[in-house]
Amino acid sequence: MAKQFKVAVNGAWCKGCSLCIGVCPKSVLDLTERLKAEAVRQADCIGCRQCENICPDLAITVKEEVNG
Ligand code: SF4
Ligand code: SF4
Repeated sequence: MAKQFKVAVNGAWCKGCSLCIGVCPKSVLDLTERLKAEAVRQADCIGCRQCENICPDLAITVKEEVNG
């Protein structure tokens, strides 16, 4: 079974710079109308962590989901 990942954005820290959206190879992230990043296509995430690494404000955490 394919691995599943959970992309969490800390909305208090996100400043809406869109760097994470640009770097994601699977278009998982998008900006909400409040200009915060959100994982709108979470199921497409491949866990590469590029979004986590690029965020200047450390607002993103990528975790592997344990299927049970
Ligand atoms: S890179 Fe970080 S601060 Fe910029 S939009 Fe993404 S989560 Fe928000
Ligand atoms: S871990 Fe990779 S695929 Fe998943 S949201 Fe971040 S950049 Fe996109």
